[in-house]
Amino acid sequence: MPRPPLDPDARIDLHTHSDRSDGTESPAVLVREAAAAGLDVVALTDHDGVSGWAEADRAGRRHKVVVVPGVEISCSWHGVSVHLLGYLVDPGHPGLTEELGRTRESRRTRLRRMVELLAAEGFPVSYPEVLALAGDEASLGRPHIADVLVGNGRYASRDEAFADVLASGSPFHVGHYAPGPVHATELVRAAGGVAVMAHPFAAARGTLVPDAVIGEMARAGLLGLEVEHRDHDPEQRAHGRELARRLGLLTTGSSDYHGAGKPNRLGENLTGPEVLDAILGAGSGHPLLGDSG
Ligand code: AMP
Ligand code: FE
Ligand code: FE
Ligand code: ZN
Repeated sequence: MPRPPLDPDARIDLHTHSDRSDGTESPAVLVREAAAAGLDVVALTDHDGVSGWAEADRAGRRHKVVVVPGVEISCSWHGVSVHLLGYLVDPGHPGLTEELGRTRESRRTRLRRMVELLAAEGFPVSYPEVLALAGDEASLGRPHIADVLVGNGRYASRDEAFADVLASGSPFHVGHYAPGPVHATELVRAAGGVAVMAHPFAAARGTLVPDAVIGEMARAGLLGLEVEHRDHDPEQRAHGRELARRLGLLTTGSSDYHGAGKPNRLGENLTGPEVLDAILGAGSGHPLLGDSG
């Protein structure tokens, strides 16, 4: 997708969530907030779904923000969670559509099961409440259970719920289907997209995959590592830059904004314009959104 080089001062944030997954703002509000935060380019990367793209496109035109269409694909490597950002993918690619659909369906079954386990122990939550809160087009996740528990006064915040019953090691936790990270990287490439591994060294989130797996993903066509992210400390960032150099990968920076669902603020980490140029040059599955020319 050839495009003239961007303004060297462009402010670019390549990882955000709307209420089509576990963010708290609609795609339109998120894009408006991106404009208010002084961003020129924002990527919408909801978990395992692309239902927010059309609304983000209209809002981008209105607020003069370029929106990179994206998705954050949940992956699993021998039980270890990996998040893969796929930019500019063709959302109609059969293999990718099928994997994302399978993951979203499994997210529903698993969330229903978690709710049943919690309700059986007296926690104030029901599956219809979760569905009503999340809406029809959202990819369901643990944050939706958190929001119901908070709404019903059981916890003060999502964070408190995650520190307790929603933690990965909790007896109430149930896993969901997710493709392997190497396969997901191949699928993103096959769908004309660009693959960037999200927060690869965020050890506080759980076990990390060995760097050798990132090497395999690189050989499968991974373009970059999201190094500048609030879940990485300075040492992890330095390691990320060194690994990217060794594997010939680019590095990005992003907020991983979730609206009111997390403290992450739009634009708190940024991606260089030259990196965005490389992403746009490598992705051909879908045009940019909110971009009238
Ligand atoms: P799930 O994908 O359903 O397993 O839930 C994981 C999601 O929950 C991640 O995408 C995070 O954005 C979110 N999350 C994890 N920990 C927290 C937390 N402490 N506070 C708010 N959101 C969280
Ligand atoms: Fe999330
Ligand atoms: Fe993530
Ligand atoms: Zn994310």
